[in-house]
Amino acid sequence: NQPAQPAGAKVLKVGAEATFPPFEFQDEKSKEYVGFDVDMMKAIGKQMGVEVQIVNTAFDGLIPALEGGQIDVIASAMTITDERAKKVNFSKPYYQAGLSMVVKADNDTVKTFKDLEGKRIAVQIGTTGAAQARKIKDAKVREFNSASEAYLELKAGGADAVVNDLPVNQYFLTKGGDKDAKLVGEILDAEEYGIAVTKKNTELAGKINKALDELKQNGEYAKIYEKWFGK
Ligand code: GLN
Repeated sequence: NQPAQPAGAKVLKVGAEATFPPFEFQDEKSKEYVGFDVDMMKAIGKQMGVEVQIVNTAFDGLIPALEGGQIDVIASAMTITDERAKKVNFSKPYYQAGLSMVVKADNDTVKTFKDLEGKRIAVQIGTTGAAQARKIKDAKVREFNSASEAYLELKAGGADAVVNDLPVNQYFLTKGGDKDAKLVGEILDAEEYGIAVTKKNTELAGKINKALDELKQNGEYAKIYEKWFGK
């Protein structure tokens, strides 16, 4: 048995790609990391009696950073996939998401993923959106370090669509992006986000799952959800 840690003594380093609102992003004024995942991890940290520190990391560098020990946990709107689960240990799902498409406001030809055949698609590197885009026949997929760069490419006319997580697309549109762009077509909604730890760290995975259960029971999870997504 480990001796109990005095409160605040232990820091849990949480890797996140912090340009992915509303899950993790920097507040413009305070420059603090904020978002659904950030609040959730702080609440989990509180349950576990540890301090949480966000380490901003490129999305495709998160699993390597976890394996290399630079971070203890990934909480970055990361979809639980079989491929990733070979390398990391995922918590229980904590958020139900899905992929969707954003096109320019005046685009009337793209309505389904199939309509993107042969088209130019902008995505964030290493994401499920990128994997989905690559499945589309003859699509020219361009990968960017962040979702915001993918939206910029669409706006600049360098891409016909952005394929990305629905809640992030929605956030982009409601925060002003709707002047240039719109959401179209079906939503592939079979994705769930999980918190990742290393394969070896089953103890931490257990603690995180326990804390998640507690947050669901005591209403804290619902409060955080409502803060970022409404009722
Ligand atoms: N949910 C997507 C994935 O896991 C995108 C995550 C992200 O860009 N932060 O690939």
